[in-house]
Amino acid sequence: MSRPGTPGGQPGPQRTPDRVPADPAQAYAELAAGNRRFVNGTPRHPNQDAGHRAAVADGQHPFAVVVGCSDSRLAAEIIFDRGLGDLFVVRTAGHTTGPEVLGSVEYAVTVLGTPLVVVLGHDSCGAVQAARESAATGTPPQGHLRAVVDAVLPSLRRAAAEGVDDIDGIVDIHIAQTVEALLGQSPVLAAEVAQGRCAVVGVSYRLAAGMVRPVAAVPAATLDVPTGASTPAA
Ligand SMILES: [Zn+2]
Repeated sequence: MSRPGTPGGQPGPQRTPDRVPADPAQAYAELAAGNRRFVNGTPRHPNQDAGHRAAVADGQHPFAVVVGCSDSRLAAEIIFDRGLGDLFVVRTAGHTTGPEVLGSVEYAVTVLGTPLVVVLGHDSCGAVQAARESAATGTPPQGHLRAVVDAVLPSLRRAAAEGVDDIDGIVDIHIAQTVEALLGQSPVLAAEVAQGRCAVVGVSYRLAAGMVRPVAAVPAATLDVPTGASTPAA
């Protein structure tokens, strides 16, 4: 048994050509397909071999930016069954956005040409729960955690206005709110979307099932490419 390549040597012969989605809808369909493989227990673990590691060392062309919650159960490359060079990932508790997050997204979209931004939230999100408890008790948390809670509060107010009070319903609203916040706070991103070069999709992940479900998309047609999802949005 020979190994595919040597340390510091040439890429191994087993590297397969990787077709990079250049279109927002294709990029979303690719993520959805990877998530289906993860859910079904049939992951391919693409782009994780030594050959691919060497191939992408000189430059990156990620096909999606993931703005996700920092929750330890939400690792983007695992749940979307992708590998090195595929995803440009920015994570904060409760996928809250600030200048560094916006700057990172703008870098990927404008410098790297990434055609899709995905906001990745999940059920039972601790950041949303913390904000809810803080609002209920009128007691802000200590330290910089307050910045996270404050960033979630607009979503809580919107949920209250819409009569939504279950935690997962609030999470969906917070994901949609984050999609709108990215576009509202980044004229650079909004211009890329308006010109059709990029799209922003919000998805909710279920911790137990491992499945993502779209809850928002700008433009909405980004979701039109068939993904073969096993269940429609509930
Ligand atoms: Zn979370």
